[in-house]
Parts: sequence; structure tokens; C-alpha cells
Amino acid sequence: MKFSSIIGQESLKQQLVQSVANKRVPHAIMLLGREGSGHLSLAVAFAQYLNCENKIEYDSCGECSSCVKSQKLIHPDIHFVYPVTSTKIKKPKSADFIQEWRKEFANNPYQNVQDWVEAIESDNKQGNISADECREIIRMLNFKTFESVYKVVIIWMPELLGKEGNILLKSLEEPPDNTIFILVANNEEQILNTILSRVQIVKVPRLKDSEIIYQLETKEAVGTKEAHAIARQVDGNFNEALKLAKNLEDDNEKLYLLFLRICLKGSHEGKSLIDFCEKVNVDLGRENMKGLLRYGLDLMREVFVLEHIGEAKARLTENELKLAQYMNQRLSFQSKEEIIKRLEESCFYLERNANPKILFMNLGIFLSHLLKRNEVVLT
Ligand SMILES: [Zn+2]
Repeated sequence: MKFSSIIGQESLKQQLVQSVANKRVPHAIMLLGREGSGHLSLAVAFAQYLNCENKIEYDSCGECSSCVKSQKLIHPDIHFVYPVTSTKIKKPKSADFIQEWRKEFANNPYQNVQDWVEAIESDNKQGNISADECREIIRMLNFKTFESVYKVVIIWMPELLGKEGNILLKSLEEPPDNTIFILVANNEEQILNTILSRVQIVKVPRLKDSEIIYQLETKEAVGTKEAHAIARQVDGNFNEALKLAKNLEDDNEKLYLLFLRICLKGSHEGKSLIDFCEKVNVDLGRENMKGLLRYGLDLMREVFVLEHIGEAKARLTENELKLAQYMNQRLSFQSKEEIIKRLEESCFYLERNANPKILFMNLGIFLSHLLKRNEVVLT
């Protein structure tokens, strides 16, 4: 992960880069910030930067062999320690869950510990970092680095170390040469004082509303009004912002599928196309209407991805996947392009104050003809 792909935190990124230039990298630092501030991402980007073979101004290159491995979280000199649970494996260690860790981090580098534990755990167990894990860290520190200058140990959520953390004190105080500990924590009150006194604490500020809004609008396809509303609610927590954006997407999914069903059958669950257009007109507001149309466009893009690249690369829910498969079976390339063109036109006119009821009515009639002509069956 490059620094440039992390939201905001510009002065902190510079501070970290500067510490390398000045040869003053502390051997144990703690990035202390609230959930969703991006401190785990910063730790990962800093580890990548430390070992990058071709550093550019204020960032790693992202292309050298060290960066390529860092980005996939498979660098042999960058070690991850995180809470794990014992339901699937007795005496579990972080390494036992490394595949899941890579997947979940790629999925959402802003995840919190509950998200992570839910991803690896079916029961209601808490995650923790065990004494065995601490001994494993010490054992691993005895090896030379495999291929880079620095050996980096990233410990996520040291709050869950408990008193086992004392096993690490000597290593934190005097690690072997070129070994850097990066602890990533939310709450210093839950961390042993003996650990706190051995690390340099770097405070990670909360993200600004403007940074969250920009990210939601440009990367998550959220409308301006909704992005502002989300930013107001989450108080700098981007993990929370992503969850709220996902809820919006779920609402759009339900509404858009209802729209398509009505277009095909004339009515669904007692609602006709006219009922639907009236409901949209009354309930949604112009920004949400645009969101609904943008959802339709995103879905069509995924329909193409599914056809040409395959299921693994398409980001589709179960219902969307079913629909996308039907579309690919029944609709020609040209028909799908026609749908995209009509959706884009509808967005364009909606932004220019077209009457929403008439606009959705026209779009519905168009889709109805096109879907019926091609006999798409919606379940
Ligand atoms: Zn590099």
C-alpha cells in the first residue's frame, strides 16, 4: 500500500517519511488513533516505504519487488500480529489466519476488530493475542531479514495483548538491529503501562469531513448530499462511513430490482410502473434518484465484468449475480449498451431538472420493451 492511496493524514505521512530521511526511525512506535482513522493503513504503508528499493518523493515506488510483495502482504520481512480466536484452531496464532488477513485487509483496510473477528469466527468469541504469539514474535526476531534492510513487526490492537504483552518488553526496548515495531492502537488506557513507556506514541488524528466526503464521492459513487450526511454522522470514522454507504447501496439494490421486475411484468407485489414512479418522486429526493440511476449503471458495468472477466472479479450480491447471469444469457451486447446509454441520459436530464416522474416513466417503458423483447426472466 502506498501512502498516496490512504485518505488524508498528509502531515503524518510526511513526518514518517522524514524520520527515514533523517535516519531517526524509532525502533518501536505506536500509531494511536480512533477507529476508522486509517492508522493500520499508515502502518502498512510505512513498512512498505521502509523496505522500498526505489523510494520516490514522499512515497514508496509501488513497483520494485519489495513493494510488490508488501502490497500483497506477502513480504517475508513484514510480519503481522493481530487478534485471533480459538474456535477453528487450538492455540491459534496470527500466521494460521494469514490468508483471511490478506483478504480482509484488501477488502477494507479501515476495518475494526469486530469486523475482523466476525470474518474469521462463527461463534461469539473475542479475539486476543496470546502468550504463544508473543513467544513466536521473539523466536522470529532471531532470524536475519530475508531480503530487505528492515524487519518490521506490525502489531494491530495491542489492547488485546493483556498481561502477556510483558513477554515482549525486552524486545520492544532493545530489538535486534534494523527491527522496527509498529503498534496500531485505538485506546491507550487499555494498554499496559510497561508497553506504553517503551514505544514512541504518534497520534493519528481523526479524518476531516471534507476528506471523507471526497472519498465517498470519488471512490464509492455516493451522491454529494448523501456523502455530506454520512460524513456528519461518522465523526471521522471511515469504516463507519463505508458501512453507511453500503446501506445506501442495499436500498438501491432493492429498489432497482423492484423497478426491473415491474418493467418486465407490468406490476410486482401490487405496484404498477405509475405507482413506482410516484413513490420514487415522493420518497427519494433528486440526489437519491441519481444514486438509484448510478446504481443501475454500476450494475451494468458488473454485468460486463461478469461476462468478460468472470465471477471472481465481479462485485455482485447473490441477487445481483442471478440477474447479471440472466442478462448475459438473454441480452445482446447491443441491448446492454442501449440500457447504459439510457441510464446515462436519464442521469444527465435529472441533473438538469427533468420531471422525475416522467423521467422514470420513460425509462421504465424503454426497459420494459427491451427486456420483454429479449425475454429476460426475473425470479
Ligand atoms: Zn518500491
